[in-house]
Amino acid sequence: MNIHEYQAKSVLAQYGVAVPTGKVAFTVEEAVEAAKELGGKGVVKAQIHAGGRGKAGGVKLAKSLAEVEQHAKELLGKTLVTHQTGPQGKVVKRLLIEQLTNIQKEYYIGLVLDRAVGRVVMMASAEGGMEIEEVAAKSPDKIFRETIDPAVGLTPFQARKLAFAIEIPTELVSKAVKFMTGLYNCFVDKDCSIAEINPLVVTGEGEVMALDAKLNFDDNALYRHPDILEMRDLDEEDPKEIEASKFGLSYIALDGNIGCMVNGAGLAMATMDTIKYYGGEPANFLDVGGGASEEKVTEAFKIILSDPNVKGILVNIFGGIMKCDVIANGVVAAAKQLGLSKPLVVRLEGTNVDLGKKILNESGLNIVAADSLADAAQKMVALV
Ligand code: ADP
Ligand code: MG
Repeated sequence: MNIHEYQAKSVLAQYGVAVPTGKVAFTVEEAVEAAKELGGKGVVKAQIHAGGRGKAGGVKLAKSLAEVEQHAKELLGKTLVTHQTGPQGKVVKRLLIEQLTNIQKEYYIGLVLDRAVGRVVMMASAEGGMEIEEVAAKSPDKIFRETIDPAVGLTPFQARKLAFAIEIPTELVSKAVKFMTGLYNCFVDKDCSIAEINPLVVTGEGEVMALDAKLNFDDNALYRHPDILEMRDLDEEDPKEIEASKFGLSYIALDGNIGCMVNGAGLAMATMDTIKYYGGEPANFLDVGGGASEEKVTEAFKIILSDPNVKGILVNIFGGIMKCDVIANGVVAAAKQLGLSKPLVVRLEGTNVDLGKKILNESGLNIVAADSLADAAQKMVALV
């Protein structure tokens, strides 16, 4: 789960990480009120679940209340398109009104789980404010890393090493160490999957602060963080994905036109790969899970069909725990209930496969049966 910048900053502040003073605003009036508390000026920052706002005009400096008002009016309700939102952009519904910070230099600090070593890694770079992916690609030697032993945590020695490597002014190294330690403690405590501070800044007043903050959380751990779960903003999520999660379906919307209904995440990945191999583009990832009922299959169909880009559906089910006849009944019921008019290719394998195929053949529906995954993908690609 992702949260907004202003929420991430409030979480980080609990761990002693320095952040600029600021307040969220949902209306122009609230934005002006918040700026009054900051001495009548500030930075107006669009709050969306995507980065790259600065370059896209989503971060505006205001030197007076009139300017705050003008920027707030302009940004609220605007569709902001950044390199992370995709071409459709995201509608701005919240603003962060923040203290204008006197930036001396921008740095980068990030924390991720390195799956290869199975440990959290802190990354730091003096190339802050830029896209870190670009720095990693063009000059990887400018990114410094420390792998953290979970039993010990981030040691002051490691934090100092990183601070010196990115050339934090010597007199501010102890503040940088405090910052990094707080960031790491937050990451572990709150079960984050990503923490990214870009930029971390050194200010003219000698402060070390997070000017931007991105925190991602492990969904499987949210049950023990009700405070974080409360920060979920459904407006930022795909309505199809929200609907799917209500029925225990793992659904991720994609850009293609072939809807996929598959059981098991591995088989779903293989199905998407095979579709692409034969020149098609999947419209979604969908794992209906091991014990899908007829009702679940029907819901899955509804969600797939609510995507206007879908030109056909490929069903690829391995009947293990789930039996092929149950799936076949689900497919037939859903197709009839929804008046399915789009091409449907079905590949079934496993328990009760013959019975499943018989149900499909006798349904009177226009279903194309496939014998293998390759066969199914080729037939689907040809149909759409
Ligand atoms: P994004 O990463 O989405 O572009 P940031 O929060 O990193 O958004 O802001 C982009 C840039 O705007 C920063 O690199 C910084 O130069 C400037 N900026 C952001 N917040 C402030 C602030 N409170 N005071 C001064 N400048 C700021
Ligand atoms: Mg940023």
